Amino acid sequence: MNNDILATLSITDATRKLATKEISSLDLVRACRANIERRNATLNAYLEVFDDVEAQAIAADTRRAMGEKQKLLGIPLAVKDNILIEGRRASSASKILEDYIAPYDATAIKKLKDAGAVFLGRTNMDEFAMGGSTENSAYGPTKNPHDESRVPGGSSGGSAAALASGMALGALGSDTGGSVREPASFCGVVGLKPTYGAISRSGLMAMGSSLDQIGPLTRTVADAKLLFEAMRGQDPLDSTSLDPSFYKEGLQRKKIGVPRHLLARGVDADVLKLFEETLKRLQEKGYALVDIELPSAGLALAIYYILMPAEASTNLARFDGVRYGLSRRGESLFDDYACTRGEGFGPEVRRRIMLGTYVLSAGYYDAYYGKATQARRTLSRECAAALKEVDVIMTPTTPSPAFLIGEKSDPLSMYLTDIFTVTANLTGNPALAVPMGEVKRTKINLPASIQLTAAHGGEATLFSIGREIEAV
Ligand code: GLN
Repeated sequence: MNNDILATLSITDATRKLATKEISSLDLVRACRANIERRNATLNAYLEVFDDVEAQAIAADTRRAMGEKQKLLGIPLAVKDNILIEGRRASSASKILEDYIAPYDATAIKKLKDAGAVFLGRTNMDEFAMGGSTENSAYGPTKNPHDESRVPGGSSGGSAAALASGMALGALGSDTGGSVREPASFCGVVGLKPTYGAISRSGLMAMGSSLDQIGPLTRTVADAKLLFEAMRGQDPLDSTSLDPSFYKEGLQRKKIGVPRHLLARGVDADVLKLFEETLKRLQEKGYALVDIELPSAGLALAIYYILMPAEASTNLARFDGVRYGLSRRGESLFDDYACTRGEGFGPEVRRRIMLGTYVLSAGYYDAYYGKATQARRTLSRECAAALKEVDVIMTPTTPSPAFLIGEKSDPLSMYLTDIFTVTANLTGNPALAVPMGEVKRTKINLPASIQLTAAHGGEATLFSIGREIEAV
């Protein structure tokens, strides 16, 4: 089987072929590496390709030959640079952690290792996952494989670009305000933000702890399910992780809620057209479309951009030049902090630390952080009420296809890209991004994506409706 076919197989197909011995893990790894050699220098999707990749594949093949049958045995995956793999660098694409070596495995990684996965390397991202384009990396931007003048989305842009260019069969990202779903949208792959607590956050570098989730990026919805199931579960190392009994089989009402009031402004006309066509096809398959109102959803961005910097500023306080990574000497202890953090953090990270400490400061806490917390609760109530009536809420994943590198140099215009994704993080609901066709820009076809949000623990609903979208 030729390399192009091998490197673009779905995990589900590859697993089947591995089981019948039609292909080996080493074949898959070599096919991915051929694409890495061809395109990574330009795309900058991987920050590092591990030196033992072939050895991992050979070990997986040997285990299979000895009769082992783990679900992901020999499947090569790419991992975002903020998820710890023991003994490997993990820098969060920041200078401050340039030489940091992970001392333990993230729980999600441990589970994937138990399932037999092979890890190809660590992928580029916006520094500390702050961004929507992967332009904020200290190691240069990643490019979109569909059009190299455009961004892959962010912050898990390296993972999405690696997958979309046949450099991996699946990838891990993290999603605090959309960072799995946005790059999935811009690169034409599937991305899942699980229910808050479904996958342990142990070993994921914290950005906004009440928002963060690790999520899979895959070629198909079935693959997303496979990776999700391999990683989920309660973990003593994360007290917010959910007990499996939380998951109840959802009764399908075949009803889709559409908050049309959110689509009235700012959505690209071609994206909107594809969205309406997709809804129409679902209607033809027997789904009822219901207009829903989420009055507070218009505030979601404002709520998110208060709470996330607040939490991030607290989480990033640990990078003090003493405990982790970069350390610079100044003239006093305070000066040590200032020199280390001033040199180690990029401009977007510094901006958010300043915003976060501001909204948390004694004089402004009630006006900003306190208010945002209340508004978050209202938004959660509205979503929960809507999801009592419908199976899923649907919107486009992003308001536009991938934009040009450098196009959104004003941070506020970049933040607007998150308009449809942040709500699920604020409310903890699971959300899935599924490709819904392509739009043409300067003669190049760019992917567009639809987002489905379900009730807490409703991943099964997302997967079943997601599959129907793939099939239409
Ligand atoms: N784009 C959003 C932000 O910049 C989301 C980031 C994320 O999910 N990690 O905060």
